[in-house]
Amino acid sequence: MKIEIKNEIAALAARTEEELAPRFREIDETALYNQQKTLQAFIDHRIGANHFNPTTGYGYDDAGRDALDAVYAQVFGSEDALVRHNIVNGTHCLAIALFAVLRPGDTLLAVTGKPYDTLEEVIGISGEGGGSLKEFGVNYAEVPLVGGRPDYEGIGRALKPGVKAVIIQRSKGYDWRDSIGVEEIGRIIRLVREISPETVCIVDNCYGEFTERLEPTQVGADLAVGSLIKNPGGGLAQTGGYIAGREKYVRLAAFRQTCPGLGKEVGATLGQNRFMYQGLFMAPHAVAQSLKSAALCAGIMEKLGFEVNPRPLDPRRDIIQAVKFGSEEKLVKFIQAIQCASPVDSFALPLPWDMPGYRHQVIMAAGTFVSGASVELSADAPIKPPYVGFVQGGLTYESAKIAIMYAAGEVM
Ligand SMILES: *Cc1c(COP(=O)(O)O)cnc(C)c1O
Repeated sequence: MKIEIKNEIAALAARTEEELAPRFREIDETALYNQQKTLQAFIDHRIGANHFNPTTGYGYDDAGRDALDAVYAQVFGSEDALVRHNIVNGTHCLAIALFAVLRPGDTLLAVTGKPYDTLEEVIGISGEGGGSLKEFGVNYAEVPLVGGRPDYEGIGRALKPGVKAVIIQRSKGYDWRDSIGVEEIGRIIRLVREISPETVCIVDNCYGEFTERLEPTQVGADLAVGSLIKNPGGGLAQTGGYIAGREKYVRLAAFRQTCPGLGKEVGATLGQNRFMYQGLFMAPHAVAQSLKSAALCAGIMEKLGFEVNPRPLDPRRDIIQAVKFGSEEKLVKFIQAIQCASPVDSFALPLPWDMPGYRHQVIMAAGTFVSGASVELSADAPIKPPYVGFVQGGLTYESAKIAIMYAAGEVM
């Protein structure tokens, strides 16, 4: 297969880039700021080649592991962090944080509507038990978004005694809504603190890292949680997750991730440290590439008549671009075309399948070096009307631009 870019699409891309020039400058400025922050953390913690040494067995005295936690904590402006390659994905990481904080009889309140699909079985909203929070006697309540925005009055009313934790989802996930900026997360947290000072504020930070200058932990979040095969892994982390936040909650999370009493003191890193360090170092740049790719995608698809969210010039608070295709055929074709124009598995044909943890069938293009890494260019969608596809990532703007132009040409 030869990747042909249609002339019309190339022209649309050129026009879009001109329109986006001021946005691209802002994205570069944010990347510069976050790069300096990240670099400084490496310098302050005297990161050396010794920190990349692999450990095995119990992993006692793994200097690289401990220093990586400290580097993350500095970058996230938090007291402490837990960064581990053996946290298997974002869902696992969020589950660790929730089980760390919540106890029988407590209530978890979702304040930005229904949480990400895969958390339903963790919380016990759906599924057969299997050790969900619900099975352990943790109650759950939810304040829906109103018009895609947080419902401050509703949140105020829902903060009854017993609400031990709130969960705030920064990114839109698989929803057609605005993502929630760090400033707004701060506003939600201030409201929670005012009404219920003891409530623990947990932010699902997936896809949001480094899109802005501040992280949720810098506006009051007790814990921010994310996946290393998304933004903060910079495309190099091979797997893993992080939890950054207040020391006492990170400690509880470490007790949950290994076991009570052992916490952060154990866990062999098996040679994964260098990937996690280098990935974090690359992350501000990789996120900037992803943000530009998403904006370009929005511009081209909007010019072709598709509704997009966010719109090309809108502020970007995560790396996700949603496109409404209106038909299953176009959605599937677009996603298959993204796969075709990927460096890995370009010959594979993605099809809708029953992915574990999701309610609808899902189609995913991820022609990525790290399996399923959505900081690399990827596109996915639940198969349901109005057939919204989510495009994200792009380790290099150039490669993402080529794939997006090709895929746009397939559905014009
Ligand atoms: C990706 C994501 C998660 C976790 O998903 P995993 O596939 O388990 O890493 C959770 N919340 C949001 C908003 C996400 O985007």
